[in-house]
Amino acid sequence: MNGSRLNVAALRRAVPLRMWGGKGSGLPCDFCRVTVGPDDVEYEVEAQLDGGTVMLRFHYRCHYAWTGGEEPRAAEDPRIAADRA
Ligand SMILES: [Zn+2]
Repeated sequence: MNGSRLNVAALRRAVPLRMWGGKGSGLPCDFCRVTVGPDDVEYEVEAQLDGGTVMLRFHYRCHYAWTGGEEPRAAEDPRIAADRA
């Protein structure tokens, strides 16, 4: 599983465990396959999938879509967290 791109079905099965937000690392988003640039907010998600653990990377908007379009909580938005720091 490590190193291989996940298909949409696998992404849907993945259960998020932990999440970090930060600047884009220049690596492709696991949702839209487009590079997350340094000017983008990147979400890194540790997720459980088929008995293993995978690391996923998303744009802010792609993470939002992946989670089903739920309104993100303020504490999970790195831009808001940065304002509070
Ligand atoms: Zn994306």
